Amino acid sequence: MPMKIDLEALSNHDLSDDCIVCRTQDVVSMALIPAAAAWELANELPRFSVALHGAASLLGVMMEEGVQRSELEAALSDLLDEIEDGIKEDTVMGGPPQGSA
Ligand SMILES: [Zn+2]
Repeated sequence: MPMKIDLEALSNHDLSDDCIVCRTQDVVSMALIPAAAAWELANELPRFSVALHGAASLLGVMMEEGVQRSELEAALSDLLDEIEDGIKEDTVMGGPPQGSA
């Protein structure tokens, strides 16, 4: 039986200065998102192709490790809700950032 992966602990802000969720989101926006865009360009793949399949493949690794798909989908839905709220707030603040690509 594989070690239980605690999605709750991975997806909830703990309101500390070094909250795992906030630190991870920083890493993703600084490193992973630009890297995915660069790979798409370098390999002449459509925009967001690596982003979409990269995200799905990363989640697939978690399923291989024993996380139930239903748990993953629920956690993902909550995270997307949070991101969606953030996008709405940005829009209210004066529109989303202009693309630089
Ligand atoms: Zn946080």
